[in-house]
Amino acid sequence: MKPLHPVLNVDIVIIGGGIAGLWLLARLRQRGYGAVLIENQRLGVGQTLCAQGIIHGGVKYSLGGQIGDSAAAIAGMPEAWRRCLRGEGDLDLRAARLLADHQYLWTTRAPTSRLAAFFAGKLMQGRMEKIAEADAVEYPPALRHPRFRGTVYRLDEPIVDVASVLAALAEPHREAIILHQGPAMPTADGTFTLRYPGQRTWAIRPAYTVFTAGAGNAVLPWTTLQLRPLHMVMARGPTLLDPFYAHCLGASDLPRLTVTSHHDIEGRPIWYLGGGLAETGVERNRYDQIQATRRELKALLPWVDWSPVEFATFTVQRAEAHQPRGGRPAEPGICRNGRVLAVWPTKLAFAPLLAERVETLLHTLGARPRPVNLLPLANWPRPVVAVPPWDREDLEWS
Ligand SMILES: Cc1cc2nc3c(=O)[nH]c(=O)nc-3n(C[C@H](O)[C@H](O)[C@H](O)COP(=O)(O)OP(=O)(O)OC[C@H]3O[C@@H](n4cnc5c(N)ncnc54)[C@H](O)[C@@H]3O)c2cc1C
Repeated sequence: MKPLHPVLNVDIVIIGGGIAGLWLLARLRQRGYGAVLIENQRLGVGQTLCAQGIIHGGVKYSLGGQIGDSAAAIAGMPEAWRRCLRGEGDLDLRAARLLADHQYLWTTRAPTSRLAAFFAGKLMQGRMEKIAEADAVEYPPALRHPRFRGTVYRLDEPIVDVASVLAALAEPHREAIILHQGPAMPTADGTFTLRYPGQRTWAIRPAYTVFTAGAGNAVLPWTTLQLRPLHMVMARGPTLLDPFYAHCLGASDLPRLTVTSHHDIEGRPIWYLGGGLAETGVERNRYDQIQATRRELKALLPWVDWSPVEFATFTVQRAEAHQPRGGRPAEPGICRNGRVLAVWPTKLAFAPLLAERVETLLHTLGARPRPVNLLPLANWPRPVVAVPPWDREDLEWS
């Protein structure tokens, strides 16, 4: 029977334009694979643009006093990213912005906080360096205050501007990134029907499909995914000093607070707040989360003038491969059903490792580099990069 729509045969279709899909597309195309990516909204709109941009090297995972599987797998990520940012790695990310080459960790005077730092320091030797009080000029500006009583460590973990990373990954491969109206769904034979208003409908028939759709991977009935919520907070105001990329250690193996600093589209300083505050905040409504944030910030940084600072919050789900006890996966997750994969990086930082593993798996399954002619889709609309949370217009500040 003659197909209903013209058919474009490609080797690999990737569904979802977050960090996982875009990194994978760039890696596969650089190696000559005929890959295309389909996104139905804007690039990074899921979890990726909510990320704080921290390229973890394992310190966060060592706070419980043990190096688990997570710390071992993630240890190489800062250097893998740095190589890309210098244009010497798997991919060329020289067009992306490095916000800071290091981040910081600070303890309060509480014995539990100091103990966690002590153990992390033992485990992360060479990657976590205590800054002597005599060198307090090296502290982040927000901690450079006579009333500050804690200890500050410098961590070997860079921070990237996530939107610029997505743009740097997408730009060289625009011709292979396709905007689709509505969530892309394979038919029973694995074909995707590509639709967009004003465009002729096409059928895309891939030999292999990789779902990098985050929570959207749930459309595949055989995948097992878990969702873990966060209630993130943003602070905006003229008294917020930057740069500030730091974890504050509390009593648990999770940082009490994680801060990254940014500027919104109007140039105003933003502190983006996660860590324990965002984990425990899922039990609180917006109002209570803002009250809890104010209390936490006043307790940790009492010398800052909080009166002109406004707050906004939002909730977001982390989508990961299902874990038996629902905890944080140690590594990227990959599920397979024949020639269809569903994958989750687990962390932005893991995107290079995930892409490497997927490429190896596809090769094992028989995929080979082969050019694809994308001319039939030359005039197809392309998705743009989404805005970071502090520039979203749907959030209420108060
Ligand atoms: C608040 C927060 C902070 C974080 N901070 C960090 C951090 O500092 N460092 C770190 O390493 N990690 C961090 N992470 C984790 C990291 O953000 C995620 O692991 C990563 O972004 C997941 O990327 P992804 O590409 O798999 O999914 P997503 O970013 O969710 O992208 C999925 C994409 O698929 C698209 N899509 C879905 N379904 C379909 C469909 N059917 N058809 C077409 N397109 C579809 C969506 O529109 C979306 O663009 C953080 C996560 C959160 C939530």
